[in-house]
Amino acid sequence: MDRRKFVERLGQAALLAFYPGPLLAKRPSRRRRPSDADWPSQAAWNRLRKEVEGRLIPVEFPIAQCVQDTEGAACEDLLANINNPYFIGDHPGLTQTLGWVDAWFTKPSIYAVAAENASHIAAAVNFARNNDLRLVIKGGGHSYQGTSNAPDSLLAWTRHMHDITMHDAFVPHRCEGTHKPQRAVTCGSGAIWMQAYAAVTTKGGAYVQGGGCTTVGVAGLVQSGGFGSFSKHYGSAAASLLEAEVVTADGKIRIANPCSNPDLFWALKGGGGGSFGVVSRVTLRVHELPQFFGAAILQIQASSNDDFRRLIRRFVDFYRDRLFNHRWGEQAFIGSNNVLSINMVSYDVAPDEGKNVWQPFLEWVNGSRGAYTFLGDSIIASIPAQKWWDVEWSKEHLPGRFVADGRPGASPNNVWWQGNVGETAWTIYGYESLWLPAILLDDNSRERLTNALFAGSRHQGIQLHFNKGLAGAPLDAVDRTRDTAINPVVLNAFCLAIVANGGGGYPGVGGREPDVSAARKSREQIRRCMNELRAVAPNGGAYVSESNFFEQNWQHAYWGANFARLASVKKKYDSTGLFFVHNGVGSEKWSADGFSRL
Ligand SMILES: Cc1cc2nc3c(=O)[nH]c(=O)nc-3n(C[C@H](O)[C@H](O)[C@H](O)COP(=O)(O)OP(=O)(O)OC[C@H]3O[C@@H](n4cnc5c(N)ncnc54)[C@H](O)[C@@H]3O)c2cc1C
Repeated sequence: MDRRKFVERLGQAALLAFYPGPLLAKRPSRRRRPSDADWPSQAAWNRLRKEVEGRLIPVEFPIAQCVQDTEGAACEDLLANINNPYFIGDHPGLTQTLGWVDAWFTKPSIYAVAAENASHIAAAVNFARNNDLRLVIKGGGHSYQGTSNAPDSLLAWTRHMHDITMHDAFVPHRCEGTHKPQRAVTCGSGAIWMQAYAAVTTKGGAYVQGGGCTTVGVAGLVQSGGFGSFSKHYGSAAASLLEAEVVTADGKIRIANPCSNPDLFWALKGGGGGSFGVVSRVTLRVHELPQFFGAAILQIQASSNDDFRRLIRRFVDFYRDRLFNHRWGEQAFIGSNNVLSINMVSYDVAPDEGKNVWQPFLEWVNGSRGAYTFLGDSIIASIPAQKWWDVEWSKEHLPGRFVADGRPGASPNNVWWQGNVGETAWTIYGYESLWLPAILLDDNSRERLTNALFAGSRHQGIQLHFNKGLAGAPLDAVDRTRDTAINPVVLNAFCLAIVANGGGGYPGVGGREPDVSAARKSREQIRRCMNELRAVAPNGGAYVSESNFFEQNWQHAYWGANFARLASVKKKYDSTGLFFVHNGVGSEKWSADGFSRL
């Protein structure tokens, strides 16, 4: 062999040692369906069942009962439970969102591996890869984009992997000597945030950064970036990831952290769930809890359009002067009915201090006689932070805060916020998001921002999620979030604007068909509304988990300058494209349903 060839071969060998297995794996041009002659035989499925210790189950589709007979007992039973997120989560054939008109409707997999450990997941991954099957991963099942369900697929279902362990002095694997020990919590990837909050906050007196909705899955949220009520103080959930155990496309169980597979680790921090591997557990930084968490809940009706526009302007000024910092998060809603609804939360604000903060705004509203009316009770209050997710304490002190899972034998901790009720088993009509940069709060921009919010609200109400933009956050939270894959525009955004609407129904269920024409009209209204906002924030980007299914430029919108790096991590760990989700990294190489390579 001549010297040049020898050096080339040597280079290839070195590359193979560095690259995980799939570089050599075959690249299927299409995935198999049960109707295909080469769909795995029953004997093959039986072998998989044995390998996963009996955890392979056929997936039932409870909604089929209602398609067959709307009046039947099975359908009645489903309808009595379908608004309970825990009931939905316990069924591998259901998802929290039932569909999105003109985009997708939930469909069950053929089989699920109801995994109890990483080896079960590895067996599912190997089986899907070796048999060219469409593989789907589901944890909490809260994807708005429908990325945790697909017909004719094999489902890796992590629901039963919800162990939670606290650590006083965690050091990521192989980081001994470079990383200081710190408090941390390890969660099985099927845990939901309520389980994590119960262990870390209610029991442990500390804090872990997760999602606002209690029933969202831990692994799904972390891989999206992930924001909770207090993210303006602590940063994104991904920014607190210390280590993940993940099964990659080659079936290997890997540890990803700053010292082992650091590129994969970075991609898992916001690169989008379901694209890089199946996460089997995550270890997250545990933070200090402040003395108080609190809330400001107000609803103000304006008497006219002009009064409403003035109210928005006044609120924008007030937000910039008094609330634009790490202590105030969650939402304001600019309604198309000229109602401004404030549902904000506070970090470490004592009860009297909260009232003082809001006083100038309330005085202004009260002083504008006849122009504004407060609707319902106004609440500005704080509670001991450790009680925020304490179900027993809430029953006694703030009844009605949570909705409880009323099924016999359900854990008392199976609760969800009143505010999430409307999104259980709903059908999306339209959903878009946009980060609004903090420069819009400058003196010479606030009038433009006000006009855009008012003009947008003439089409559809606008939610401003202040906790999902990190301008105003502490430096440390910003720096940790900067080291994640999420679109960096989040660092300079004061909020994420979300405009969304939905209804009920599922195709084929008599009397409960989705209202397609209302949905299309609504989608158009949402588009017009967002166009008003995009006019003042043209490079805003969108949050992958809470965004438009029909987003055209999704690579840039979700990840901005980070997309190229994500694409190279995808190529390294999943070169054959085993992991596919709609508008996920690498999905551009596949048909919309993920079955045919383009
Ligand atoms: C009612 C509601 C409220 C929400 N509130 C918030 C909020 O407050 N803050 C916020 O940031 N987001 C919020 N979201 C969005 C939510 O965080 C994302 O949809 C998240 O990805 C859901 O994770 P999941 O495990 O529940 O969902 P799933 O549908 O199970 O998973 C979501 C995606 O992650 C993948 N995935 C799941 N588990 C794994 C795993 N173990 N390994 C690899 N991939 C996996 C799935 O394949 C899918 O693509 C909300 C969504 C809903 C429906």
